[in-house]
Amino acid sequence: MTEKFFRELKRLLSLRSLQARIFLIVLAAGFIPSMIVRYGILDNYEEHSVQQRISTVQNQLMIVGNHLISNNYFNTKPEASVRGGVSKEVINAELEMISNLYEGRVMIIDSSLRVVRDTYDISEGKTIISEEVIRCFQGQSMSNYDRDHGYIEMTTPIIDNSVNTGEIVGVMLTSISSDATMATLEVLNRKSVILQNLMIVVIVAMAMVLSVMLTRPFNRVTEAINEVKAGYSDESISVPDYAETAHIVDAFNQLLQRMRTLDNSRQEFVENVSHELKTPMAGIKVLADSLLTQRDAPAELYREFMEDIASEIDRENQIITDLLVLVKMDKKAQEMNIASISINDLAELILKRLRPIARKKDVEVVFESVRPVVAEVDEVKLTLIMTNLVENAIKYNKEHGWVKVELDADHQCFTFKVSDSGLGIPEDALTHIYERFYRVDKSHSREIGGTGLGLAITKSAVLMHRGAITVNSVEGEGSCFTVKIPLSSTGGSSYSS
Ligand code: ADP
Repeated sequence: MTEKFFRELKRLLSLRSLQARIFLIVLAAGFIPSMIVRYGILDNYEEHSVQQRISTVQNQLMIVGNHLISNNYFNTKPEASVRGGVSKEVINAELEMISNLYEGRVMIIDSSLRVVRDTYDISEGKTIISEEVIRCFQGQSMSNYDRDHGYIEMTTPIIDNSVNTGEIVGVMLTSISSDATMATLEVLNRKSVILQNLMIVVIVAMAMVLSVMLTRPFNRVTEAINEVKAGYSDESISVPDYAETAHIVDAFNQLLQRMRTLDNSRQEFVENVSHELKTPMAGIKVLADSLLTQRDAPAELYREFMEDIASEIDRENQIITDLLVLVKMDKKAQEMNIASISINDLAELILKRLRPIARKKDVEVVFESVRPVVAEVDEVKLTLIMTNLVENAIKYNKEHGWVKVELDADHQCFTFKVSDSGLGIPEDALTHIYERFYRVDKSHSREIGGTGLGLAITKSAVLMHRGAITVNSVEGEGSCFTVKIPLSSTGGSSYSS
């Protein structure tokens, strides 16, 4: 139980689990936008608030600036200071009020960079050489927000509009506190953190529910496959929730179907093998029994029955030999003993071996080779192919018939063709002749020693050479088997029959 839990946890952490991925994606899809919105809103508020504060203060300073000019503030002569109607003290009080209101400091600097008024009363009379002030005299006023130290600094020109060109006669260097903005920001931030935490809880819950819900159909696929695996069900499974699960299940059902077909054909093969092996045994048993029941059976009868028993044993032997060849071919499907050999020489040798059998049936065997052919093949397997085809052409021939063997090649493949003037194969049997133990006429085939395995072996050997076998046959007229095999074992061409 704990082992399973840890295995599951490891799978989730290694991110190979779809469930973990969906969980993380939903989490990220909820969390990242909420963070962006939160910081976006706070930043926007801060920028907007600072700008508003700057423009309010600038406006008020401009008004004070106008009062300064109209009062001739920079003129030190006492009679001049009362000309505008507002006294210097009133202006100083205005400046004081601004600095109190905005928790800041205002310094008035005249054209000789001397501080004429400082609301902090620290720098009055001192000369100030600062880049911002000089720039302001040149007409470039600035405002600067220092977030870390919590203040806004700005320069405001004092323009004398009595001169046509609007001469800058002084500069106000102001720094005000941004604490009010920061305090509001703090409150907003706290509220947004609470909101975001709530959202995270909701998002995590949603991510968990979604990850479980969305992966449920895949779990159902696994469960259904496990049931089939455990043998509780051999029905086709169905999980149509998603197109993807439907595809997986379709592929699995096809595999299941193939396995069932294989299983059936294996069962059928075993049944056929037992039946084929039992037939000669039954023959032997009958012969032996009838000898045993006859007390004084003559020696000739013994001899005759013994000959029959020997031929049944030969037959049994033949079936077992063919079966072993077939099984070996299946087992060692990948093992090919490839060598470059002369196909003409091999064909001549095989025909030489088979001619005595043909002669017995008075069948003429002719060999026609269009050109010498050398190919990379497995000699033993190619011998099986050629021998089976020529042997069949002789076996299923008429008296005084003929067998024609032709060999030809193009630049890629060689063709081995065996035609005969024999019995031919009925059309409906043509698709079955490569099946194991299939025989068109069982009793006839038995008579002439056929096992029904020859063409199955032949086809298997042809496919191992990545070749193809085809047949044309007319019942009662004859058959023509054509085998096409690549000249080179590494050649790219392959065929299916
Ligand atoms: P068998 O050992 O019985 O010959 P095969 O697998 O070689 O088995 O052949 C399967 C069946 O195909 C044979 O029983 C026979 O009926 C038919 N057959 C094969 N070759 C020929 C042929 N050249 N002419 C007529 N029938 C053939």
